[in-house]
Amino acid sequence: DPKHRKPFVGGNLKMNGSRAILKEIIDRLNPLKFDDHVEVAIAPPSIFLDLAHRSVRKGVNVAAQNAFNCTKGAYTGEVSPEQLKDLGIDWVILGHSERREIFKESDELVASKVGHALKSDMKVIACIGEKLEERESEKTEEVVIRQLRAISEKIDDWKNVVIAYEPVWAIGTGKVATPQQAQDVHLIIRGWLAKNVSEKVAQDTRIIYGGSVKGTNSAELAKQLDVDGFLVGGASLTEDFIKIIECFI
Ligand code: PGA
Repeated sequence: DPKHRKPFVGGNLKMNGSRAILKEIIDRLNPLKFDDHVEVAIAPPSIFLDLAHRSVRKGVNVAAQNAFNCTKGAYTGEVSPEQLKDLGIDWVILGHSERREIFKESDELVASKVGHALKSDMKVIACIGEKLEERESEKTEEVVIRQLRAISEKIDDWKNVVIAYEPVWAIGTGKVATPQQAQDVHLIIRGWLAKNVSEKVAQDTRIIYGGSVKGTNSAELAKQLDVDGFLVGGASLTEDFIKIIECFI
């Protein structure tokens, strides 16, 4: 079965929401019976992680949106994977394009964060993706593989890694990648893993798509052979998130 991988759907709330909005989101998720079909994680702002963790039912995962690459110390404003684990948070999104762009995170810093989080026994959603001008100058493969290679150098065991392909031009723009555009890059990523890591890692690693995923476009994307789920931004705040999860039930 080419789609033996369990689909994964993450909801990235970014710097949105309040305790009340988070409660609404979790109240929609908790009754849903998806556990046998899809793994789900919700990623609220860090101040709400503890509330989210205490509010979700077993089987609904909570993810942080970021973590630093050190355990503790004089890093004002940062949070470590060890501290997240102390809260009971198992998942973290790293290398999101907004972290790379707005907060100037380099490939090296992202890779180092991935390595540290995995060593701290966290599960990682590692984000990669090209900008519009890179796609237009036919540099998509080069950029995505450069970001992937940096991350892969810090990974010994891939079982706790999900790769999120998120073309920057599709994030928050309403311009979703076509199913074929997503499939093409996912296949490039899986091919690179097969050649440079192992055939088994290539076959077992979930590669999820992110960028303007909505209830209206998720089913077609989900049909693609190498699309193993989604990282959802804007739509994770609304009832649309349930529709997106239901694609896999
Ligand atoms: P979007 O964001 O769904 O709002 O485009 C996706 C993401 O940033 O993960």
